Amino acid sequence: MPIADFQPVIGLEVHAQLLTESKIFSGASTGFGAEPNLHTTEVCLGLPGALPVLNEKVVHMAVRAGLALNCQIRLHSVWARKHYFYPDLPKGYQITQYEEPICEHGNLVFPFGDTEKSVRILRIHMEEDAGKNIHQGAQSLVDLNRAGTPLLEIVSEPDLRSADEAAEYLKALRDILVYLGVNDGNLEEGSFRCDANVSVMKKGATEFGTRVELKNLNSFRFVKQAIDYEIARQVELVEGGGKVEQETRLFDTQRGETRAMRGKEDARDYRYFPDPDLPPLVLEPAFVDGIKATLPELPLAKVRRYVDVLGLSEYDARLLTADKALAAFFESALAHYGDAKKLANWCLGELSRQVNEKGVALTQVKVTPVQLAGLLQAIDGKTVSNNAAKEVFGAMFESGRDAQSVIAEKGLGQVSDTGAIEAVVNDILARHPAEVAQYKAGKVQVFGFFVGQVMRAMKGKGNPQTVNELLKAKLKLTRAF
Ligand code: ADP
Ligand code: MG
Repeated sequence: MPIADFQPVIGLEVHAQLLTESKIFSGASTGFGAEPNLHTTEVCLGLPGALPVLNEKVVHMAVRAGLALNCQIRLHSVWARKHYFYPDLPKGYQITQYEEPICEHGNLVFPFGDTEKSVRILRIHMEEDAGKNIHQGAQSLVDLNRAGTPLLEIVSEPDLRSADEAAEYLKALRDILVYLGVNDGNLEEGSFRCDANVSVMKKGATEFGTRVELKNLNSFRFVKQAIDYEIARQVELVEGGGKVEQETRLFDTQRGETRAMRGKEDARDYRYFPDPDLPPLVLEPAFVDGIKATLPELPLAKVRRYVDVLGLSEYDARLLTADKALAAFFESALAHYGDAKKLANWCLGELSRQVNEKGVALTQVKVTPVQLAGLLQAIDGKTVSNNAAKEVFGAMFESGRDAQSVIAEKGLGQVSDTGAIEAVVNDILARHPAEVAQYKAGKVQVFGFFVGQVMRAMKGKGNPQTVNELLKAKLKLTRAF
């Protein structure tokens, strides 16, 4: 039975690090890259008697994410202890939520190919991260700076049916969290991590197969590779009469294959119980409503608006909205310049090119949206040619100066003064009587030659439309005589 006769089933668990300044249960900083164990308090170190104090910002961000993912927000949720031993988890348990998570029963709609796909969200809960073990030769070191960093775990229902769908779901989820300002969306640095649960069943079967959990996939490419590999492995196993074991596997990025890591624990192995140090979390409905009122427009809604209201192509709309900062830049400029299509081209073209080339963040660039709008007005007003405008923009990007001042300084202004252009046209025609004669004899291709000569004489600054019109008028006159 070929692989096409099997139906893959995928559910994703995402751990997203929240962008708070301090940890979830202590005042220690969440800052990255400090000297090991500097950002720790007695709570992070798990010292006896130290009591956790909940960071309200974490709850705020969890509710924001839950609302954006159409979840029901539990006004009563419970903290649980999940027990396991790791050297980087000094308490011997992780504080998380288990039976009563803060958000449940949501869904995420995302673009997929020409359509949209909807995946149900099973639950979202808050929890603390562990520290980090660093293995150096014969030594193993423990850094607890990350211990207690707030995480959201976002668990999907097993609604995904291919590696591609899984990757697109993840991208959409990441974009939403970044839009909400709750996560930096950085897979490589591990602030957005994904575990993929994969199973296969015969097409048409009603019962799902046994799932395997693939741990910590840290790029969209690896997510796809690991899932595809795992699907093929499971199909081959089942084909050969074998049985898929419920287990946790690691993806070896070098060899492009998954490897067994450990048997998958059952929930009962963790000895979950409500944490006696933390009372149940009770929210006022007004707290939730207040957050609802401040939700920003999310990526999919933006795409639909850019297409339906602004008339952009779906493709451009998706590119613009994939980056929150770019969408914001575009929208600010749009308030000063009405041609959305032309503006989108500049944002996706020159602006993005400069940002990539210079390696600066869009939020740090010197050129402002108003200045870009000014440049496009100058093009429309024929003060500068489209081509010269690119050079002007480069200088604006470097210096943060206005279009007009760069145009004036660099002498890149376009000459639209009819008198000045006419003088050049007359001169060129007078100097090329042979070509004029050819034109008059019906060799109309010579027209391009005249245009080229005039433009060269004007160092490319003549308004092309005026040059064309004047040449046509003059040559007609010559012909008539
Ligand atoms: P655990 O903590 O044991 O991993 P969770 O409930 O946190 O359990 O996550 C289970 C994940 O596995 C969910 O994303 C769910 O969609 C997915 N899942 C459950 N059953 C299957 C299956 N048969 N095939 C693929 N994924 C599955
Ligand atoms: Mg899991």
